[in-house]
Amino acid sequence: MAGAAVQSAAPSATAAAAAALRSADYLLFSCGAGMSADASLPLFASRRSYDRLASPDTLARDPAAFYGFWLEAREQYLAAAPHAGYAAVCRWLRRQQGRRHASAFCLTSNVDGLLLRAGWPDGLVAQVHGSAVGEWQCGGELNLAPPHFPLSTRRRCGAPLFAPALRGCAVERRTGRAVAAEAGWPRCEACGGIARPNVYLFGDGEMFQEEERVTRRAAYREWVEGVTADLRAHPELRLVVVEVGCGLRVPSVRKRGEELCAAVPPGQACLVRINPEHGHSSMVYKPDIVISTGALDALLAIEQLLEVEEDDV
Ligand SMILES: [Zn+2]
Repeated sequence: MAGAAVQSAAPSATAAAAAALRSADYLLFSCGAGMSADASLPLFASRRSYDRLASPDTLARDPAAFYGFWLEAREQYLAAAPHAGYAAVCRWLRRQQGRRHASAFCLTSNVDGLLLRAGWPDGLVAQVHGSAVGEWQCGGELNLAPPHFPLSTRRRCGAPLFAPALRGCAVERRTGRAVAAEAGWPRCEACGGIARPNVYLFGDGEMFQEEERVTRRAAYREWVEGVTADLRAHPELRLVVVEVGCGLRVPSVRKRGEELCAAVPPGQACLVRINPEHGHSSMVYKPDIVISTGALDALLAIEQLLEVEEDDV
């Protein structure tokens, strides 16, 4: 869409977003930490020690702190209920599917699994940073002796993801540190290396195991190719990207949505950005509509307008 972005939580921005969704042939829903914040989950970015704890370095230096953090996060995520905004976007998906085959996809940097639990089919969700509630991966052999350099003495073995053997591992509530089972910290079943969540950690690089059934990298690429080809061939088709709660600190999801909008012919894409703080900042494509509120309020306001229209039909 050409012209200046429609801004803020003003009714006009919400109405513009609803109108864009009504005419969408393709929908990319992308979300980051701000989507989960309304589910009462702590924002990783607001935890001062997150960078330190969520790193392979801490796994080698202080496994009790590392496992304590991830076991607690896993527990919190599994106990959290997806808020009503998740149900709203699942309805968007169903409407979208009623219009066109393979018309929607979701990209998320969240590792909480909430969108899948809310009902978005897992074949259509790319969890680009992995999942903290699913299976674990091999971490190879880490150098446990100070000064822990090099950090790793053997690479991960490449075994498929596996259910973590957590029996006997507990978290001390007071300290947030884990206590190892009698047999020690969790291990990879295949090679005996250290086991860890399949989450993209700070400083992870190739230590993170990309598994298609979690990250859906190939599926997303294929979807993007199909959508761009369709839009180029049919100027009347429209793509809407709704991006919710993606910060600037790790902007991978934000960037991919913008790249997709920039790759399709001008006028056929509409980027709706829902973000209370960083709505206007852009890399390769400026948002067409900016809603400067939290995820839940914005999603429900848009959904209300879409439902009113359905009732009128
Ligand atoms: Zn292994």
